[in-house]
Amino acid sequence: MLRTRALFMLCVSLLSYAPVLGQDAADFNAKIRKEETDNSQIMRTMHFLTDVYGPRLTGSPNLKAAGEWAIKQMTAWGFENGHLEAWDFGHPGWMNERFSGFINSPVKDTLTCEVLSWTPGTNGPVTAHAYQMTLPEKPSQEELTAYLATQKDKVKGEIVLAGKQQIVPVTLTPPARRQDDKQAKERYDPNNPNAAQGRGGPRGNQQPPEPGKLTARQIDEQLDQFLVASGALIRVNDAGREHRQIRAFNNRTFDATKALPTVVMSNEDYGRIARILADGSAVELEFNIVNRWYPEGKTAYNTVAEIPGTDKKDEVVMLGGHLDSWHSATGATDNAIGCAVMMEAARILRAIGVKPRRTIRVALWSGEEEGLLGSQAYVKQHFGTFEEPKPEYSKLIAYFNIDSGTGRARGASVFGPPEGAAVIRQALAPFEDLGVMGAIASKSRALGGTDSTSFSQAGLAGIGMGQDPIEYNSATWHTNLDTYERIIEDDAKKSAMVIAAALYQLAMRDELLPRFSKETMPPLPPKEGTPAQATPTPQARPGNKL
Ligand SMILES: [Zn+2]
Repeated sequence: MLRTRALFMLCVSLLSYAPVLGQDAADFNAKIRKEETDNSQIMRTMHFLTDVYGPRLTGSPNLKAAGEWAIKQMTAWGFENGHLEAWDFGHPGWMNERFSGFINSPVKDTLTCEVLSWTPGTNGPVTAHAYQMTLPEKPSQEELTAYLATQKDKVKGEIVLAGKQQIVPVTLTPPARRQDDKQAKERYDPNNPNAAQGRGGPRGNQQPPEPGKLTARQIDEQLDQFLVASGALIRVNDAGREHRQIRAFNNRTFDATKALPTVVMSNEDYGRIARILADGSAVELEFNIVNRWYPEGKTAYNTVAEIPGTDKKDEVVMLGGHLDSWHSATGATDNAIGCAVMMEAARILRAIGVKPRRTIRVALWSGEEEGLLGSQAYVKQHFGTFEEPKPEYSKLIAYFNIDSGTGRARGASVFGPPEGAAVIRQALAPFEDLGVMGAIASKSRALGGTDSTSFSQAGLAGIGMGQDPIEYNSATWHTNLDTYERIIEDDAKKSAMVIAAALYQLAMRDELLPRFSKETMPPLPPKEGTPAQATPTPQARPGNKL
């Protein structure tokens, strides 16, 4: 009995302290696969984060409740030090509680719309005629001012369609839903000079401003001011997407007095109304919008929990994704699934009895959709930058991030020298059968489309997982279709397994992950104006306003 126990303790301590190699590694990886195959919690986590607590707009009580639930759940799994970490969002929370929209004449029908966040409600049903503005194309300031002067009396007391209908052609060649293996291998091959550099740069397709012309954002802001000042009742934007998809973002001022009640209408309904107006017929619309504001939302929270380390417990390996979402669906693929996968990767290690040498810390961010605000605040507060480090800076080994939908992980982009990516590539190698094809180094410190870039901007090892696209860009990303139903459980499980394996290596190996030295650290990219302009915010993308 005693001998068995001693042997058991020896096994436990081996599992706890030795890096796993050879047959041991194969056994260990088999345990990861078995735990996830038999006991996955991903869909349960997804149910709570989406059905119960979604949507999770930053500053909203839903997001805070989702964070509290995640802490409770991770604590139940045996994690420690679960807590919310406050940061200053500076804007009140906002939620839409009710919406209805109708065309009353010349035909009767229900309209498909989403409310623009941080805009005011209607204080009861509003019925009025529709008026469509035809804004000049790419105007200069003089042209826009001259045009608006002609509209002042026309928009008063009206429901205003803000611009021409966008023409959305039928998609004849839909984009691929999976990356083929050959492509993925090339993408994560360190010897391929054209390998992807990860999501280091800005995403979206914001056009550079043309000289003398106003940007879409400037036009949008002036239009809001003009409509409020002119006594228009409601602003209607064209969603400009196929199949009644709607991406509704936010009133950029976060100030209810600076925008009208605003909805983003399906391209199909918008077009129908525009065509009826073009016949010369009057169109009567009716809207009822109930929004609620939460002053306490000025303080937002990141959600953090840990599996404490052992002999190297002051060193930390982090993993996470953003928990906040947009508001027109329940934010399943963006990015409840990323949170569920990362919680799961850490849970797997806990469940198979790993005692990590270093502390494993899960962080679920807020404020990502408004410009990576939560992760920026966290990095600033805890780590500082390579140039101005805080004491915790040298203790962070790496941060893994996942934020591109439900598709399985296909590879990793690792900020740091090639030797750092090589460590991750080695950890992922036994999982090629699940579709993960390697890791490549990135040296971009540009703040970009997701939270790993908050770390790499500071010179820390931000690791971004690349994924199969599935329906992310074509259907679910930031849209009213981003729900639980669009999750592929099998893909998410595969991601959790491969991340668990890579996480384990970083938590156990004797050495730190190789880093850039003082001589090799890439310089910070030049600042382009204010941080808000340096990071193209989602609302600057087409399909939102105008
Ligand atoms: Zn996201």
